[in-house]
Amino acid sequence: MERKIVKLQGLNIDSFSFEDAVEYAKNISGQIVTLNPEMVNNASKNQDFANIINSAELVIPDGVGVELGLKILGKNVKRIAGIEFSHKLIEECAKNRQSVALIGAKPAIVEKAKENLQREFPDLYITYTHDGYFDDDEKIISEVKIRQPRLILCALGSPKQEEFIFKAKKDFPDSIFIGVGGSFDVWSGVVERAPEIYQKLGLEWLYRTIKDPKRFKRIFPTLPLFVLKVLREKFIPRGV
Ligand code: UDP
Repeated sequence: MERKIVKLQGLNIDSFSFEDAVEYAKNISGQIVTLNPEMVNNASKNQDFANIINSAELVIPDGVGVELGLKILGKNVKRIAGIEFSHKLIEECAKNRQSVALIGAKPAIVEKAKENLQREFPDLYITYTHDGYFDDDEKIISEVKIRQPRLILCALGSPKQEEFIFKAKKDFPDSIFIGVGGSFDVWSGVVERAPEIYQKLGLEWLYRTIKDPKRFKRIFPTLPLFVLKVLREKFIPRGV
């Protein structure tokens, strides 16, 4: 299977369906990015971060914002929820007896997420866990390196998780890494996912903002700014 990359604000995004993205991911090693509008805005201000995204081995459009942005540019790509995608990769690892590492979130959260995932997938082999509040990246990388897990989930928030993965991936020729944001909080049972109707409409961010109004500050300038930038990309293409 070959990548069919579309561009949004100069960033690569793969246009696979959910199933094809899973199949593709099963046969590669390297970095998987789950891209949302906040990250697109961040990349426009941070060239190193943009380079990390563009050197990733797979970039999935996570959320309705990126889907909408691509639609404005006339590209029909369906969104893939990062949390569902990474959950599916975990299931595939369990099926194929491949090992998994969890890095990120608070210590009790990552342990609880491990416990719940292991209960859900009795064949799952989680060989390494570590919370996401560390300073010495190299120490963590060398600890995981000994285990060489097939799938390494990093829940450090963005851009920390993408930067960590970018730094680590050269030492893991047979692993895939994916940045999963707040997924461990959900799998631990501490944070609930939005009701299905919000998920279907792509409005999980709205539900989370209602539940936790502090997020408003994060979402609010980001989304309209993102849409404005994409509109500018449509009507005034880059380089003009
Ligand atoms: N996190 C972490 N280390 C840090 C900062 C954040 O492990 O230095 C974790 C945090 O505990 C949470 C996750 O990163 O589990 C993602 O946080 P956030 O809700 O900001 O992610 P997003 O909204 O991007 O999915």
